[in-house]
Amino acid sequence: MAEHIPSAVALPHILDPASDLDAWLASRGQPAWRGRAIQRWLHGRRAMTFADMTDLPRDLRESLEAEFRIWTTTVAVHKKADDGTEKLLLELADGQRIECVLLRDGERRTVCISSQVGCAMGCVFCASGIDGVVRNLTTGEITEQLQRLARLLPAEERLSHIVVMGMGEPLANLDRLLPALAMAQDPQGLGISQRRITISTVGLPPAIDRLAQADTGYHLAVSLHAADDALRTRLVPVNKAIGLADVMAAADRYWEASGRRLTFEYVLLGGVNDAPDQAADLARLLGGRAALVNIIPYNAVAGMPWKEPTASSRERFLDVLRDAGINVQVRRRKGAGIEAACGQLRRVAAGSAAGSLPVL
Ligand code: SAH
Repeated sequence: MAEHIPSAVALPHILDPASDLDAWLASRGQPAWRGRAIQRWLHGRRAMTFADMTDLPRDLRESLEAEFRIWTTTVAVHKKADDGTEKLLLELADGQRIECVLLRDGERRTVCISSQVGCAMGCVFCASGIDGVVRNLTTGEITEQLQRLARLLPAEERLSHIVVMGMGEPLANLDRLLPALAMAQDPQGLGISQRRITISTVGLPPAIDRLAQADTGYHLAVSLHAADDALRTRLVPVNKAIGLADVMAAADRYWEASGRRLTFEYVLLGGVNDAPDQAADLARLLGGRAALVNIIPYNAVAGMPWKEPTASSRERFLDVLRDAGINVQVRRRKGAGIEAACGQLRRVAAGSAAGSLPVL
């Protein structure tokens, strides 16, 4: 696993643990509460520069400016869809690119953030993992996605929900993710309650247990995509070494520890996992669990052989689940036309630059 964070990230993000801001402040005789004040300026008051932090002493602002960064990324592409969805392609200090999305839905302002550059899980239908994983994102890079997306909103609006469903496998980068999510909860910062934070995972049992022990209260979504091991291993290759029984047992342990209803995600791929029998298998697998099934119609990726389900096969699939008493919801498509599914924009942008991939 790529633990290496390249040296191009020369000045760390101010809120990255690598900055060790508390120690830095202490070494300058500054009180510890200044660290929280800086965090609040960034998350709550949307400061763009250290100079904006007007209640900090001027010489402190100048030293911060010299030694830390508020922005380690640049916005390479900013796309807006008619439904209010906005997507950012961010370029990191080492030239890698990641995606994050703002979704507007009624009063909700949900952000979908990435946890890694690329992904090692290899799900065969997903654009994020085509070239494998490059590296973990730092806590600063995860935090910066929240900073950037929050600043797309007018001053009177706030982010309300976080879903970690962008590029990467969040449970493979928990050490960097958890501090960023903890900061997001600060009531004077973003103030996003733990109950409005969802982590989506391919289902890595030891990491699910770690998350349960951390007692974060986050909502867990487990990507199933198939109810039998043969098909799941074909679609989600990492399943070969884990198996559905272990994934379900870990999900149950998370439910017991957190008391939070689980979500199971199921991407519907036309002609592959959308038959009524497969819906019946899924209902059996879920048994009596008090879980929500989130059906995600496939978002076609250029150059991949997978198809969206037809409307009739999707409805049949849903009927079988509902008849079996399963609580099911269909994820509505958002951001059509801006490559809003994970990993798509990065590929399209890279492809159009190199002239090798069609622009969707
Ligand atoms: N690694 C995490 C987060 C992935 S993104 C996980 O596996 O859950 C969140 C969801 O989007 C996952 O269920 C993923 O399988 C799904 N997904 C990936 N590519 C998709 C596509 N092109 N269309 C629809 N859903 C997709």
